[in-house]
Amino acid sequence: MTEEANKATSTSTPARTRYAPSPTGNPHIGNIRTAIFAYLWAKHTGGQFILRIEDTDRKRLVEGSLDNIKESLSWLGLDWDEGPDKGGPFGPYVQSERLDRFQAVARQVIEEGKAYYCYCTPERLDAVNKAKQAAKQAPGYDRHCRNLSEEEKQAALAEGIKPTVRFKVPLEGSTTVNDLIVKPLTVENSTIQDAVILKSDGYPTYHLAHLVDDHDMQVTHVIRGQEWLPSAPLHVMIYQALGWEIPVLIHVPVILNPPGQKGKLSKRDNAVSVSQYRELGYLPEALLNFLVLLGWSYDDHTEFFTKQDLVEKFEVSRIQPTPAKFNIEKLDWINAHYINHVLDVEDFARRCLPFLAEAGVISPEEAQDPGDKWPFIRAACALVKDKVKVLSEVPQEIDFIFKPAAALEYPAKDLVGKNESPAAAAGVLEAAINFLKEVPDEVYNDREALLSGLSDISENKLKLTNRGMMFWPPRVALSGRTKSPDLMAMIIALGRDETVQRLELARQSLLNQS
Ligand code: GLU
Repeated sequence: MTEEANKATSTSTPARTRYAPSPTGNPHIGNIRTAIFAYLWAKHTGGQFILRIEDTDRKRLVEGSLDNIKESLSWLGLDWDEGPDKGGPFGPYVQSERLDRFQAVARQVIEEGKAYYCYCTPERLDAVNKAKQAAKQAPGYDRHCRNLSEEEKQAALAEGIKPTVRFKVPLEGSTTVNDLIVKPLTVENSTIQDAVILKSDGYPTYHLAHLVDDHDMQVTHVIRGQEWLPSAPLHVMIYQALGWEIPVLIHVPVILNPPGQKGKLSKRDNAVSVSQYRELGYLPEALLNFLVLLGWSYDDHTEFFTKQDLVEKFEVSRIQPTPAKFNIEKLDWINAHYINHVLDVEDFARRCLPFLAEAGVISPEEAQDPGDKWPFIRAACALVKDKVKVLSEVPQEIDFIFKPAAALEYPAKDLVGKNESPAAAAGVLEAAINFLKEVPDEVYNDREALLSGLSDISENKLKLTNRGMMFWPPRVALSGRTKSPDLMAMIIALGRDETVQRLELARQSLLNQS
């Protein structure tokens, strides 16, 4: 490792990183993945993670974006140390509130002869591009205003033209961008455009604004998407013109096959933002775990990381330079892992509440404060904790638990197992009813004791040839379904009265049939 790279990945100096979204809507999860990298590197080194809002492209602003951005980060547990609302030593953290500073830097580079006013109208720029196209040249500005005389400038101003400011690219030599993870990129200076750094309305472009802010906010590592790599040589030139130290640049790979692509129809395939994944029933810890693995790995086999693990283990040097593939099945698998094996029942059931309310299984008030109903709701959720992949699956799996017995609609024939008779099924139900009515509470609420009690009836009293014949009718009777959660767990969750009532209704419907 070179000395420079060594410094860039050293954990002995706290890093200052930033997430610098433009408020142009709900941030795409690919963009949030970049925020995760920046957050983790700051925290790993004991440094600061900054949230900065880059709102200088006024035409693209979308109302509500800032709230979306903040909610996405907060939900994932990516708390920023400095940023809008929160403040910090280098605020304000919203670029439109820093125009004076950008304008002052633009004036400074003009005075130093490293930038110039450009008076070209949009029509002229268009004509230049068309002419270049016709001559089979790459489009771009012809540096027309780079050497205007004082008279020409005055004449343009007299016409009322408001100039832009363009950076004066040094035409000789070449510029190299050193990046921590992608190969060095060298370009001939003469191929770079004299880019606009300050627009005629006084707002800076990204090229100037991000660079001034990164400098002023003492950002040590600029972690951003690889789509910015082509502009990086220009940025290096601007840094050099200003005589400022260039932060460590880390251009993170794109995500292949990102969600929300054309042609995909399901809600799940079209989800692009953190809030959409949240609504689909993914857990923040699972989404964080999944996203961090898009372009980063700890080793060649570890798949599950808590946020704390990540803070401990994250190394910028292990960000992969090659694109990562978005695979929703893997997200499902990670999410299922957290639901099935990491959350405890209490936590799982709490997280199910908004989904149950959304589906109308419980009321919004109950979701807010389940009160006395909590043990019942928790037991109902517990029935499917080992089964579901996302929280939004839960209501449809357990809604039968919440319905009144009479509202379970199913054909009586479902109560009758394969090669059985309605009379035998009714007999099974009767024996189960008698048993469940009588057993003491300790047995009723103990899964193993219930199982052995019912098994005993099956073998010794009814002399059934297999346990399935004993369990099938009550399962259908309690759930109204031919596929249901575990019978003993349902018996316990529903409670004695409701269980007996459901079994009795089922028995009646069989008797009425025969
Ligand atoms: N505002 C830029 C964007 O949203 C930020 C890029 C950067 O991180 O520098 O793409």
